[in-house]
Amino acid sequence: MALKTLIIGGGAGGTTLALALHRIGVEAVVYERDSEPPAAEGHLLSVGSNGLDALRAIGVELDGFPIPRLPMYSGTGKYMGTLYNNAASDTAPTSLLIGRGKLDRTLRDLCAERGIRVEYGKELTSCTVTDDGATAVFADGTTAEGDVLVGADGAHSRVRRSLFPQTPDASYTGVLGLGGRSRPGSLEPTPGVCVASFGYEGHFSYHVEADRSVQWLAFAPRKEPVGPDDSTTVEEWKEWLLDVYDRDMPALREILSDATGPFDIRPMERLPKPPARHRGRAVLIGDACALTGRIGAGTALAMEDAVVLAQCLRDTDSPKSAFAIYERLRTPRVDKVVKWGELNAKPVKVRTPWGMHLRNLFGPLLMKWMPSLVSMDWLYGHHIDWQRTVRPQGETG
Ligand SMILES: Cc1cc2nc3c(=O)[nH]c(=O)nc-3n(C[C@H](O)[C@H](O)[C@H](O)COP(=O)(O)OP(=O)(O)OC[C@H]3O[C@@H](n4cnc5c(N)ncnc54)[C@H](O)[C@@H]3O)c2cc1C
Repeated sequence: MALKTLIIGGGAGGTTLALALHRIGVEAVVYERDSEPPAAEGHLLSVGSNGLDALRAIGVELDGFPIPRLPMYSGTGKYMGTLYNNAASDTAPTSLLIGRGKLDRTLRDLCAERGIRVEYGKELTSCTVTDDGATAVFADGTTAEGDVLVGADGAHSRVRRSLFPQTPDASYTGVLGLGGRSRPGSLEPTPGVCVASFGYEGHFSYHVEADRSVQWLAFAPRKEPVGPDDSTTVEEWKEWLLDVYDRDMPALREILSDATGPFDIRPMERLPKPPARHRGRAVLIGDACALTGRIGAGTALAMEDAVVLAQCLRDTDSPKSAFAIYERLRTPRVDKVVKWGELNAKPVKVRTPWGMHLRNLFGPLLMKWMPSLVSMDWLYGHHIDWQRTVRPQGETG
């Protein structure tokens, strides 16, 4: 199909889609709200084997730290068990850790290398869609017309709100994600693992590199989200975080004391399921249509969405049937991941040392008895066979 595609949002979903469409000869332009690519490395982000498998399908390999395992500790440092953060198959790519800013930059650079236009400073304010095409309207007063418009514009998607104005927007869960890098300290390198700690108040993950510098991500409870005009300084955030993790293992305090900033700060949000993933000539991918919470799956899921959508456009004769098949293929899987994310939505606070004692006692047993906690192959082992044709019933084969 010769289709001019307008992709709104240059995050992992939008850029993966642009690369996938390029692979099948479909013209796409990415319109990104930010005025420039991210300068900072960003918080620690885990890209699951399934996302890397989706990228591999379209000839993209990422660079990062392989992280097949997540050893879990309680706040006091008691080992509770190891979660496998990877597909079971030896041939699947190994899940990677990478800074969020670095990931977005890498994918956008790849778009540029392959001649795909990424336009910055293009904040979509509204869009109109018909059965024949779509128009995007931007805050700078310009418009763009295309045959197809894709909402890859994240949790507060303007595209979703234009398509389904009755659906409530994403809302804050009361948990803030903050992360960044700390200068080299005394912690030993942690090759192949990302350490996860379930503390009194919050959850904390870190990875120590060979030079002993640390990349980390904290999920901390906080009543109010952080607004765009927030003026809290790095030192003030550090003080707050040191207070949140005050009773937890000493490693966290060392990491936080040595943190250099800038911090990447993002709210954890929930999103009611929109009535559909598409309307007319517009379609949604990634966070624009589903949020998966703290389980570290959203990026890979957005990449899967993007590659499957490109396959559907490749193998059908109209956007209408492509979108219908895409919806049928993606909904059951994404719903399952969202449900899993909801189960893990809030860090369970422990108020007293006695409560932590119980966690230390029962946490390891829980990890042992619940293989579903340990084996996550249903999530990470998902494979996209790019060569196979998508069928109208919504199956590949
Ligand atoms: C604190 C935190 C930690 C996380 N950790 C992980 C993790 O470890 N692993 C994992 O897989 N997932 C993780 N996630 C989830 C992950 O960030 C998302 O699922 C993923 O980024 C979704 O990609 P996306 O492209 O759909 O959306 P986004 O990454 O949100 O990209 C949307 C893009 O659209 C742009 N945009 C927004 N509005 C407009 C507009 N109106 N016009 C034009 N452009 C617009 C934005 O600037 C952005 O570049 C985490 C999320 C949070 C909040």
